[in-house]
Amino acid sequence: MKIKLKSIFKLPTKPCTYCGQEVRFPYQYHKECKKIHEAGQNEVLSLTIDCVANQNNMDSLALKVDEVSIKSFISSGEKLSLVANGLDSAVDIILKGKEITTYEENYIHAFISYFTGIEEIITNYRTLAKVDQVKFLNQISRGEISNIDLGSDSPFGFNLMKSEKLIYIFPEEVAYYRVMQSGLQYESNGKLAITTKHIYYISERESFRIRFDSILNMLPNHGGIEIHKHSASDKPKIFENLDGVFFTELIHIVSNIDNNKEEAVN
Ligand SMILES: [Zn+2]
Repeated sequence: MKIKLKSIFKLPTKPCTYCGQEVRFPYQYHKECKKIHEAGQNEVLSLTIDCVANQNNMDSLALKVDEVSIKSFISSGEKLSLVANGLDSAVDIILKGKEITTYEENYIHAFISYFTGIEEIITNYRTLAKVDQVKFLNQISRGEISNIDLGSDSPFGFNLMKSEKLIYIFPEEVAYYRVMQSGLQYESNGKLAITTKHIYYISERESFRIRFDSILNMLPNHGGIEIHKHSASDKPKIFENLDGVFFTELIHIVSNIDNNKEEAVN
């Protein structure tokens, strides 16, 4: 007579993280379930990227994504995160050409309203901010420069030059550092703005401006921008918490606009 070992030594079991069926100690899940889950995650991601990059039908994407999610133990919360992630990657693909059509932009907005809940997630990815930045750079390139009027109680209380226009204020507060021989030296937190002639930094402790033609080069890094000036005595400056690539492109475009070269006043 065969004796079932299992019935004599009852091993402790746990529900599998994925399928919920019993899995023997010390495992948390079935290997196979984990594999299915990961493959499903990748599939939802690539289905979403493909759909958005080609502006395909959202209904059929939603159906396919639901189907994969159910089969692959993907929760509804995780599904939304994957769709949001896919949207952001697709937007990066679209923006690679440094242009976005009205059709593409409308599609992105429609997509965000279609998949309720992804809007909060993509705020962290700055998906729509990236779209706005590309549109803004194109507008500036076409010479469409409008002055931001802050009114009288503006924190940017600088005396702008007659022909100087305030064109961009970075939405987030930045941290300002100087690059010393000993390393990075934190100076202050403040706001950064770009005019047609200068970069302005304003904080409670100190405020200054940098003329475009005093800049030797700009390196987008440290999650921000590192600015080197022609003057060797002027230590390189770092501003963190901004999109350094956007910053560099904006200044390149603005400083190449002809009317900048007319005046040489500081
Ligand atoms: Zn399982």
